[in-house]
Amino acid sequence: MPATAPKPVLLELLRCPEPHHAPLAYDREAAALVCSECAKVFRVEDGIPVMLLDGAAPLD
Ligand SMILES: [Zn+2]
Repeated sequence: MPATAPKPVLLELLRCPEPHHAPLAYDREAAALVCSECAKVFRVEDGIPVMLLDGAAPLD
């Protein structure tokens, strides 16, 4: 089942919530956004990035 990628315009606006605010890259395989600076992974659910630091790692 193909994942829904965030819109490119949204990707350009997204930055890591950590103080470095590095840009994020969309990983299509993982259906997640990966920080280019700290490599934190943010899940994307139905095209909506989950930008909580608490959600940066799978909880279940
Ligand atoms: Zn980061």
